[in-house]
Amino acid sequence: MAAQKDIRKLDLAALETALQNLGEKPFRAKQIYEWLWTKNAHSFDEMTSLSLPLREKLKEHFVILPVQLAEFQQSTDGTIKNAVRLHDGNVVESVLIPTETRTTACVSSQVGCSLDCRFCATATLTRMRNLTAAEIVDQVALIDHQSRRDFQRPLSNIVFMGMGEPMLNYNSVVEAIEIITTPFPKGLGMSPRRITVSTSGIPKMIEKLADANLGVGLAVSLHAAIEETRNRIMPFTVKFPLSDLLKSMQYWYEITRSRITIEYVVWKEVNDDQQHINALVRFCKKVPTKVNLIQYNSIGDKNFQQASDDAINAYIYALEKQNIVVNVRRSRGEDIDAACGQLANKNQVSNPES
Ligand code: SAH
Repeated sequence: MAAQKDIRKLDLAALETALQNLGEKPFRAKQIYEWLWTKNAHSFDEMTSLSLPLREKLKEHFVILPVQLAEFQQSTDGTIKNAVRLHDGNVVESVLIPTETRTTACVSSQVGCSLDCRFCATATLTRMRNLTAAEIVDQVALIDHQSRRDFQRPLSNIVFMGMGEPMLNYNSVVEAIEIITTPFPKGLGMSPRRITVSTSGIPKMIEKLADANLGVGLAVSLHAAIEETRNRIMPFTVKFPLSDLLKSMQYWYEITRSRITIEYVVWKEVNDDQQHINALVRFCKKVPTKVNLIQYNSIGDKNFQQASDDAINAYIYALEKQNIVVNVRRSRGEDIDAACGQLANKNQVSNPES
């Protein structure tokens, strides 16, 4: 017998062909697709609208490779961190962030990360592999379930701000977004406006995502609008000059008309001076943006320390004076290492079989 195929790697058209080859009617493919995606079925036995013989036939030819919840931690502020085990034993983390009115899922796109942001715990992990679209959708489905169970409401927002660089796993990320935003019964029916893709700033991929015009939001982790500083704290950016990044952001706005969020951490003696403030203001005046000043979550490196309130206020003052919207983002889930930049599988959750 030929090796069983991961059924969730097939799109609807491919599934229809596969079913036809098995002597089944194409409408069965739609039913199966609905079980796989809208209902997030993790086994063929759950597909009770299919006959038993068809379920057996599917088991012969296909597998479903769902993720498993390996560990669950809850912060005193309500934030939940899930360690999610993939079928091959790799583990990624996903976070549920509740507010008064919203539940946001922060999902991972890669196992580890290939980038080298000096201030980020995930960067200390080797990039093992990209996640499949199904593994991304499974994280979303898990958090939606937790939100309904613990907060009596469905998941409302998704941010690609977990482990990994979404733009370096472009195809799976786009495929996952398509499944999440496709209306019932083929997809999860979420509005793309409630999804944000966060990137460390890969210009070509920002342009590609703009062209795809999915209706999602874009966030760029800038952290410094002075080249030298950015190159020092995010060394991979040597290959991606700020001028190219800016051009790609302008292109994004031209195509999508959606304002970009700039993510920015202010650190003591790294970027807390007037020169860096002026550079950020100049940058923001060249493309419609709003700035999120993110609180730094220490990863134990002495070179990076949260800047003073005075420095933060100086940023806010300068940006607001130029009518640039600025928000200060407090950390969530810091006590369980669930906050931005802290996802590093610290508890060493591993494959129970290994
Ligand atoms: N690779 C993507 C998404 C993951 S990081 C990106 O870079 O955008 C999500 C956000 O957390 C980014 O803005 C990142 O720069 C920020 N971040 C990383 N480490 C952090 C830390 N220790 N404290 C606060 N924010 C951090």
